[in-house]
Amino acid sequence: MFGRMIQMVSQFAAPAPGLQLGVTVLGSGSAGNAVVVHSPEGNLLVDAGFSLVELRRRLATAAIPEESLRAILVTHEHGDHVKGLRVAAKALKIPVFCNRLTATVLRDGGLAPEAELTLFTAGSAFRIGAFTVEPFCIPHDAVDASAFAFHLGDLKLGLATDLGHANSLTMHHLAACDLLVVESNHDPKMVWASGRPAMVKQRILGRRGHLSNEDCAKLLQRVLHTRTRHLVLAHASRECNCYDLVEKTARDCIRALGRTDLAPHVARQDVPLATLWA
Ligand SMILES: [Zn+2]
Ligand SMILES: [Zn+2]
Repeated sequence: MFGRMIQMVSQFAAPAPGLQLGVTVLGSGSAGNAVVVHSPEGNLLVDAGFSLVELRRRLATAAIPEESLRAILVTHEHGDHVKGLRVAAKALKIPVFCNRLTATVLRDGGLAPEAELTLFTAGSAFRIGAFTVEPFCIPHDAVDASAFAFHLGDLKLGLATDLGHANSLTMHHLAACDLLVVESNHDPKMVWASGRPAMVKQRILGRRGHLSNEDCAKLLQRVLHTRTRHLVLAHASRECNCYDLVEKTARDCIRALGRTDLAPHVARQDVPLATLWA
């Protein structure tokens, strides 16, 4: 699928010599999610939760040529992850990968692309280009939500957002990552204090909702590894969290682990993060 080598031309998306595996969070949060996973042979898009116009604007900001995208992987069917899927897949002329139940919901909801979906199964690794992708189940109130570990040679990227809690399967798949993107969604006190309906509060705080800052820190205590070079906290709620608190909670956790070489990045809703490389 990755027949052609992509020459990265920009500063933003160009790795330092010797670095191979990269990640660019184009945007993250309940208003839209999209992440680019980089290899020297081409890139993958995880989720298409922005309109095509907005996706293209963000790719341009991050200096990622859209021709470098080889496939779209879908984590789950919530609108903030698939809003632009149908249009993006058609415009970019690339295949869409998702699991069987998600495919059914996308088709039923008119959100699936016209082209045939490529199905993956949690627990079964598959290859796309230079990547080996391991999809795994996460507890979330979607029909069958996925997270991913991407392997490129000896390098590993773990990517998990939209999870109500981190179970042993999650920890297993996120262990010993060179690059790690993980959800730090809310501060429970801010959720309770918000004006949201009780049902929505229960949903966010529940075991199939979203991961709190504290639970993210507990997960980090278990999975951060000496080889972890970059950490991104993602899917922060704008109403029930603040970016400074996300960063502080993760920083305190990292410090308690005795790591002085790792500074957490907080993914934003409105602008892409700089590309991070391992
Ligand atoms: Zn989401
Ligand atoms: Zn979701």
